[in-house]
Amino acid sequence: MKIKNVVEYLESIAPKSLQESYDNAGLIVGDKEVEVTGILIALDTIEAVLDEAMEKGCNLVVAHHPIVFGGLKSFTGKNYVERVVLKAIKNDIAIYAAHTNLDNVYRNGVNGKIAEKIGLTQTKILSPKKGLLKKLSVFVPIEATEAVKNALFEAGAGSIGNYSECSFRTEGVGSFKGDEASNPTVGEVGAQHEEKENKLEVVFPAYLQGQIVRNLFRVHPYEEVAYDIYTLDNVHQEIGSGLVGELKEPMETMAFLKMLKKNMKADGIRYTALCKKEIKRVALCGGAGSFLLKNALAAQADIFITGDYKYHQFFDAENRIIIADIGHYESEQFTIELFYELLTQKFRNFAIRCTEINTNPINYL
Ligand SMILES: [Zn+2]
Repeated sequence: MKIKNVVEYLESIAPKSLQESYDNAGLIVGDKEVEVTGILIALDTIEAVLDEAMEKGCNLVVAHHPIVFGGLKSFTGKNYVERVVLKAIKNDIAIYAAHTNLDNVYRNGVNGKIAEKIGLTQTKILSPKKGLLKKLSVFVPIEATEAVKNALFEAGAGSIGNYSECSFRTEGVGSFKGDEASNPTVGEVGAQHEEKENKLEVVFPAYLQGQIVRNLFRVHPYEEVAYDIYTLDNVHQEIGSGLVGELKEPMETMAFLKMLKKNMKADGIRYTALCKKEIKRVALCGGAGSFLLKNALAAQADIFITGDYKYHQFFDAENRIIIADIGHYESEQFTIELFYELLTQKFRNFAIRCTEINTNPINYL
């Protein structure tokens, strides 16, 4: 198994194109053609994690946080980022990160893992993204419609929420006239031809466009395929920030906070006034999620759980919602477990290890 096999698999779950603009997810150090000796999973790739990888015989570190965000202009080892990159290169250790792309997916994402830990049901994305969905409409001769439709489904088109293989077709008549250089599948060169066709329509996420168009061209019988692709204004229900869901039964607020602290292995929770007697509806976002407070309010959540809240931002709760800051590391630590489950499901009987190092730079007294 090569590094590229691991990368391709993880990016089939969390496509790189779904990361935020400031992010740097993907293979950061290493050659994707190299054979993997073992995988070490961590939240942060610090030097101690690289040492651990070498001890455990792993030449690939899969992490949540990218070690490099911006461009590095020197490699002298003057700070921890440069030292990690130098050490990784010197010791042939590859570093891969799935960060905001893994935050932004509903299925197998960072926030889904948190929801699982605190027992939320009926979850959905708190702030679904726009501009990620496209529509393809293609004109297909009647008898080729089934084959084209199935080839599009095979490439991932036609999924809407819990439904797959969604499409719509309308029958009509197309016309065309091939020039001297043409080689029409039906009709004569130089003469207008009319053919009964279906207009077949499917939606798809933008990141699958290459694969979908390739499948379309492979199966469609015409020399020139007539098709339109356009971007939709609809939100993608399964891609975006944060998550909102419900507890099976409402919980008394303090009992909920105690459960949260225990289940999320938090050393402390910073929270605003307990303006709700009980908790039923919960909004959450792993990492730094304060930008989602307005979405949590709009979703009528009783509590918003995240990390990295600042003093002045806590005032924004205004007795409308409880803000609970459980810490950045604490909120995302189970991402290690998530990576482990995903990788072991796919690559059975392979050396996949989780770090034993707590990479949280913050301590509590
Ligand atoms: Zn984070």
